[in-house]
Amino acid sequence: MFAEIVVDIAHSAVDRRFTYRIPEGLDVSVGHHVLVPFGQGDRLKEGFVVAIKDDSDYPSIKDICRIVEPYPVLLPEQIALAEWMQDAYHCLFVDALRLMIPAQLRGMRVKEKRVRTVRLAENLDLDAALASLNRAQAQKRVLELVAKINAEASVPDINAFYPNSTAAINALISRGFLIEQSETVFRRPQKMRIHTPVHTLTAAQTRAAQAIDEAMAQANGSVLLLHGVTGSGKTEVYLKAIADCLESGGQAIVLVPEISLTPQTVGRFTDRFGDRIAVLHSRLSAGERFDEWRRIRLGLADIVIGARSAIFAPTERLKLVIVDEEHESSYQSETQPRYLAIEIAAKRVRECGGTLVLGSATPSLMSYSRALSGKYRLVELPERVEGRPLPTVEVVNMRDELLMGNNSIFSDRLVERLSECIGTGQQAMLFINRRGYATFVSCRSCGYVLKCDNCDISMTYHKSESRTRCHYCGAVKPLPKECPNCKKPFIKQFGIGTEQVEEAVLKLFPTVRTLRMDTDTMREKGSYEKLLSAFHRGEAQVLIGTQMIAKGHDFPNVTLVGIVSADTTLNLPDYRAPERTFQLLTQVAGRAGRDNLPGRVVLQTYEPQHPIIRFAKEQDYAGFFHYEIMERKKLLYPPFSLFLRIVFADHNEQAAEQGCLSYAKLLEAELMNVLGSEGKNDLLLLVAAQAPIARISGCSRYQIVLKLLRTKRLRDAVRAITAFHDLHRTVCEEAVLEVNPQEMF
Ligand code: ADP
Ligand code: ZN
Repeated sequence: MFAEIVVDIAHSAVDRRFTYRIPEGLDVSVGHHVLVPFGQGDRLKEGFVVAIKDDSDYPSIKDICRIVEPYPVLLPEQIALAEWMQDAYHCLFVDALRLMIPAQLRGMRVKEKRVRTVRLAENLDLDAALASLNRAQAQKRVLELVAKINAEASVPDINAFYPNSTAAINALISRGFLIEQSETVFRRPQKMRIHTPVHTLTAAQTRAAQAIDEAMAQANGSVLLLHGVTGSGKTEVYLKAIADCLESGGQAIVLVPEISLTPQTVGRFTDRFGDRIAVLHSRLSAGERFDEWRRIRLGLADIVIGARSAIFAPTERLKLVIVDEEHESSYQSETQPRYLAIEIAAKRVRECGGTLVLGSATPSLMSYSRALSGKYRLVELPERVEGRPLPTVEVVNMRDELLMGNNSIFSDRLVERLSECIGTGQQAMLFINRRGYATFVSCRSCGYVLKCDNCDISMTYHKSESRTRCHYCGAVKPLPKECPNCKKPFIKQFGIGTEQVEEAVLKLFPTVRTLRMDTDTMREKGSYEKLLSAFHRGEAQVLIGTQMIAKGHDFPNVTLVGIVSADTTLNLPDYRAPERTFQLLTQVAGRAGRDNLPGRVVLQTYEPQHPIIRFAKEQDYAGFFHYEIMERKKLLYPPFSLFLRIVFADHNEQAAEQGCLSYAKLLEAELMNVLGSEGKNDLLLLVAAQAPIARISGCSRYQIVLKLLRTKRLRDAVRAITAFHDLHRTVCEEAVLEVNPQEMF
C-alpha cells in the first residue's frame, strides 16, 4: 500500500503530493500525521496523509517512518476542503491544511496531558487487605480512600487528601492491592456559567426556530439569513436551534467576532449546554487550545464556539453553523490564505448537508441581496422582545452648535441627556470612532468633505506630506486653506480621541466614575473582560470607548448612548464606508434600553442630512439597503463588481515602481485577451500607482487596483489574473495579490 503525503513545508516548490510506501505493520489511514524522510539526506519531516492507493508506478519509493498521533488528525472532508481552498483562495495546499489543526500540534510542541491513576485490584478482599496494613498507616488510609471513591482515583487527588502519599501508593501497587492506570486529562479553559432563564420564545422567535428546523430536516446545505433588530432575541433562537441540532445527533459550530467572544457570551451557552461546549479563540493557552480541539476531534464536544478560524473545527457530525454578526469584517482573514469564514461555512454545510444561519441586525449588503434574490432564506425578527421599544435617536447637527458658539466635543443636548442619566443612577456609553481619526478633511462650518474627483471617495490627509491623497486611484490634492464650498477657513482634518472625551466628561461631572476602552487601554491580557465586568457591576457610570464597546454587549442598566462623532467612518476612503457606518451606528444605538428601561441615543454629526445618518436615526435597515444598493449600482461598486489589488514592495524604490508598471502593462494585455472583444468593457479600472502607504519597514510600495464588472466572465478573468500572478510575482521582492481586499490602505 502507498500513501500520498503533503509535506509540512510552506513552499510552492514542494506543495504537492509525494508518494511513500506504507511499511508492513504500520496502520496508516487518510488524515494521519506522519514522519517521512524527505529531500537530500532524507531528513525526517512532518507530513499529512491525504490519500491511500494500491499501487504506484514510481520506481524508488521511500517508507513512511512513523505515525505521530494515534488517530488521524485530519478528517477526509477537511482534506477535501483544503483542496477546494487551494483553488478558491489561491493558496498552498499545506497552508490550508494547517488551518484545520492546532498550530502546536505541528513540531510536536504540545502533548496530551496524562495523570497516573489507581484503582482497587479486582477480587481484592478489602477487609483482609486493610487488616494486613495495621502497621503501615499511610498505606492503610490511602487504600481506604480509594475504596471509598470506588472508582479510578488520580494520584494528584490522593496527594491532595493525604500529602506525600506517593510512596504509600507505590507500595500498595507492588503489594497488588492497587492497579496502576493512566488517564488523559483535558486542559479546559475557564468557562463561567452566566445564568440566563430559558425564555418562552415569542411568536417571531418560534417562526425563526422552525425555519431553521425545517432547513436542518431538509439537510440540503441551505443558508438562512436571520435579520433581527438589536435586542430581538437572536441568541435565544440560536440556543433553540442548537438544542434541536444536538437532539438529532448533530454537532454545531457558532462563530462570533473575536471581540464579542467574552465570558458573558460563552457563559450564556455554557449555562444551557455545559460540558458539551468547546471554545476556540486566540486567548487560550497552547495546551487548552490543543485539548479543546481534541475534545471536538474525539467527538466529546458537540458545540464549538469560536472566532473566525473555528469554522475549521474537526466536527464529523456537523449539522448546523451559526455566524453571529455576519456583517463583521473580522470574518475575512487578512493573512494567507485570505479566506472568508462565511464562504467556508457555506461550503462545509453544502458538503455535509447541514444548515448555515447568518444572523445580524444589519446584514451585509451582499447577504441581504442574496436573501432578496432567494439564494438565502430570509427570516426576520422585526421587534424587540417583550414589546420593548427600540431606542429613540436624536440627531444633533454639530454645525448648529458651532454657530451657537459651542465648539466643545459635546452638544448641549448630549450634556443634558448625560446629566439626566447620571442623575437617575443609570449608565451611559459614549462612543467615538477612532478608526477615522484625523484622516479625512472637512469643513466645520458647512460640512463639505474633500473628495477625489475620480472616485467619489473622500481624500485622506497625510500629515507627513501635508497633502491629501485618494486611496483608490492615487490622485493627490493640497490641503485647502479655505473651504472650496463656503470659502470659510474652518476646513481641517477631523477626529477626536477617547482621552479627550473622558476629560470633557470629568470636567462637566467631576464626581462621576468613568471607564475608558480603546486599543491603548486594552493591551494587557484579560483587561477587556475586566473592564466589561466592572461596568456590568456598575462600578462606573460612563463607559467611553471605540468600536470595542459597540458590539453585542448586553448591559441592562444602560439607557443612554452618546455617539460623539458619527461621521468619522462615513468619510473613510472606502466604498464600504456608508455600509460600515450604518452598521456601526445601528449596533451602538442598539446598546441602549435593552432591559425594562427605555433607551435614548444622541447622535452628533456634521452631516445630519446625509441619507446614512437619516436611516440610522430611524434604524431603518430596509431603507438603508435600498438606498445603498442603488448607490453601488450607480458607481458599479461591489456586489456589481469586484476589486482586486496587487501590492508590490521592494527595498529599491525603482524596482518596486518598475515592477508594478511592467506587471500592469502585461496584465492589461493578458486580461484584454481573456475577456475578448465582447468583454473588454468588463475591466472598469486598472490603475498602477504608488500605494497609499508609500513605505513600510524600509520597503517602497506600489499597487495596482483593478475593478472588474461582475459578469459570467468574471470567474475566468480572476483565474487568469491568479495564473498571471504566479508567473510574474517575482518582478520585485514581494508582490501580493488580494481578491476583494478589505482595506485599500
Ligand atoms: P439580540 O442578540 O437579538 O440583540 P439577545 O438574544 O441578546 O438579543 O436578547 C436580548 C434580551 O432579551 C436578552 O436579555 C434575553 O435574555 C432577552 N430575551 C430573549 N428572548 C426572550 C423572550 N422570548 N422573552 C423574554 N426575554 C427574552
Ligand atoms: Zn465649507
